[in-house]
Amino acid sequence: MIRAIEFPNPAEFRRQKLPGSFHIDLTQGGPDAASFWFYCPCGCEGPSRIIIGLRGKPASSPSWEWDGSLSEPTLTPSVNQLRCGWHGWLRDGYWEVA
Ligand SMILES: [Zn+2]
Repeated sequence: MIRAIEFPNPAEFRRQKLPGSFHIDLTQGGPDAASFWFYCPCGCEGPSRIIIGLRGKPASSPSWEWDGSLSEPTLTPSVNQLRCGWHGWLRDGYWEVA
């Protein structure tokens, strides 16, 4: 399993390119959602962006429900990376292969 480390600073996030790390941008995604930027746990080129809901799953699709934790986040449902084929879960701050 790979630890999901949060980077509050987007520039630092993009400089370190740490596999499994993420940055949440609350200014992107609309009133009930945010952008979840992350580097794939497999280490392939990134970052990727998905839409997460702050209070349940957003109306926009595809999107994920976020439990609100920055230190040990959980996303539902699983994340499928078309680019590299990585498929798995972010649960309690760790990326787990499905
Ligand atoms: Zn990948």
